[in-house]
Amino acid sequence: MKKIILLLIGLSIISCKDAKKDGDAKKNLKPKITLHVLDGGKIIINNLELFSEDTTYHGQSKEFADAYYVIQHPKGNLMWDAGLPENLVGMAEPFTDPSGAFTVSRKDSLANQLKEIGLTVADFKYIALSHSHFDHVGHANAFKNSTWLVQESEHEFFTNDSAQVKRADIYAMIKELTNAQKLNGDYDVFGDSTVVIKSMPGHTIGHQVLYLNIGLEKPLLLTGDLYHFEENRINKKVPVFNYNFEMTKKSMEVFETFAKENNADVFIQHSPADFERLKALLKSQKTNTK
Ligand SMILES: [Zn+2]
Repeated sequence: MKKIILLLIGLSIISCKDAKKDGDAKKNLKPKITLHVLDGGKIIINNLELFSEDTTYHGQSKEFADAYYVIQHPKGNLMWDAGLPENLVGMAEPFTDPSGAFTVSRKDSLANQLKEIGLTVADFKYIALSHSHFDHVGHANAFKNSTWLVQESEHEFFTNDSAQVKRADIYAMIKELTNAQKLNGDYDVFGDSTVVIKSMPGHTIGHQVLYLNIGLEKPLLLTGDLYHFEENRINKKVPVFNYNFEMTKKSMEVFETFAKENNADVFIQHSPADFERLKALLKSQKTNTK
């Protein structure tokens, strides 16, 4: 009898252990996703007036960051945006465009920056660009073996036969991205609601922003160029170089509603303050989980 009781106690201990293991396994089912924010260069806007449809910023200048982002997900890595052109790296002086409107520079190459986080371009299943302007497509061509997640309208606008001539500079910077997965609206990249491309057209025809619900205190929203700086978000100003004014205004409304509903922390990609704030947030997160 004693033996049987001991055996039963033993069995129940084993089954408790199994239940605990099950619980642990369930906890581990939550995908571990890592975000990195990297430096794709710097832009000095010598004439900030270009960033409003009126004269709000007349006579002002401003420094912009040019961030790009790496999202490591168990189902593959995503590059979000691609910084300024890599031929700026190593230039003795920053480059000023012929109109004098902006001055650009880039300190470090993609390969070096990826190396620091233990990756190479071969590790990326996906690349997605907020939009196809020169300061977001800098190193895009390096991702020729990745799938390019792009709105169908944006793809058509920037790669059709006439665009290859009319916008040859931009086309040259994205032409290696031949594995395009064309999107029509929002897209849940990994199918688990953690990394979602949100269609926010207007700045370009297929402009998009990125929603990240990756286990940080709050979900994050990366703005692309829906807004270029903080006052721009408060004032809801639209730059003069913009595909469709009304579309942009509508996207701003949709964006703000979505941000509020999801209690999302908004990061303006060209804001140097937001660049530093995100770096600090990710660093503190790392220390907390150690
Ligand atoms: Zn930009």
